[in-house]
Amino acid sequence: MRVKGIAVLGSTGSIGCNTLRVVEALGEPFRIVALAARRNVAKLAEQIARHRPLLVSVENERCAEELKEHLRAIGTAVAPQILIGEQGLIEVATHERASCVVAATVGAVGLVPTLRALEAGKRVALANKETLVMAGELVTRTAQNSAAELLPIDSEHNALHQCLRGEERADVRRLILTASGGPFRTCDREAMERATVEEAMRHPTWNMGAKVTIDSATLMNKGLEVIEAHWLFGFDADQIDVLIHPESVVHSMIELIDGSVIAQMGITDMRHAIQYALTYPQRLACALPRLDLVRVGTLHFERPDVERFPCLALAYRALRAGGTMPAVMNAANEEAVNAFLEGHLKLTEIARIVARVMEQHAVREASSLDAILAADAWARRRAAEEMRASGCGAVAPV
Ligand code: MG
Repeated sequence: MRVKGIAVLGSTGSIGCNTLRVVEALGEPFRIVALAARRNVAKLAEQIARHRPLLVSVENERCAEELKEHLRAIGTAVAPQILIGEQGLIEVATHERASCVVAATVGAVGLVPTLRALEAGKRVALANKETLVMAGELVTRTAQNSAAELLPIDSEHNALHQCLRGEERADVRRLILTASGGPFRTCDREAMERATVEEAMRHPTWNMGAKVTIDSATLMNKGLEVIEAHWLFGFDADQIDVLIHPESVVHSMIELIDGSVIAQMGITDMRHAIQYALTYPQRLACALPRLDLVRVGTLHFERPDVERFPCLALAYRALRAGGTMPAVMNAANEEAVNAFLEGHLKLTEIARIVARVMEQHAVREASSLDAILAADAWARRRAAEEMRASGCGAVAPV
């Protein structure tokens, strides 16, 4: 069988590590050929010793030197080529031996390498939702032009991809994204204002990285996913609904014009979605625990409360405004989440900062990378200024 080379952008993060476990479990013909990480060189060194990639990339020269020291200390016989920075990420994303690129970096840094991978005709298994939020038009057009496949790893979109298989687009009335509701689902506004980083990091059902966990606590994550669904599947804001579903058993649903609803269910383990994206259209056996519906017993669904979770409404507003507005919302949110994680901002102020930046933005077309990156940079500056103006003195100047 032909080797299926896998490149991973963000290999030491949550999705990255899970991808390596999936590839190891699948065995031949799947094989890791290139890995990109930022600064976690100790973990990257372990991954190199185990998976023997041909190429790796880290954030900068210092990380590269540290990585070499770690590899010497491990005494590994293999020595991959080591690159740095954005060019390194791009080389990993376009490696000639990779047929599939798992894009699992956090935030805006994954955009350009993902575009390059699509231009090179690679299948992109996309975990980085910010890429589609910022540049959905550009990314989907690039994929179409080079006939490259874009497969979602985000669990909701992976579920929708599965539900939509074999259905005519015109037969689908709406998409229904489920959301766990996060750790503050049942909290009042006052409790949310006092929320600490530790409380916000306590996600009830999924174990994920810091940025997406905070976004889940504000429901911005679901807002970003509404925009992601729009670009992946071509449905308008009016055709994408969100339901709170605390058990996280139904990963998402579609409603058809005849009233039928199709749901995709599973355990909360990202390895299912990752494996699906790597092996599609094939289904391969998987040794993970099975979903036990008898043990789950009851499933609950409720409408999201946009009064307490205004980020969800902001995302719908950004999607309807179109152009550069989603990129602006995403960038302002990223800055505000970082400030919250560093203890400079209250959780409930994230939405206020994002809303302020969006109000001041004059929407432009988002069909070029330059326009998107300019909007992104503008929004980050404005968010920092807003945070300084509202007394978040410790926020570093951009
Ligand atoms: Mg998700």
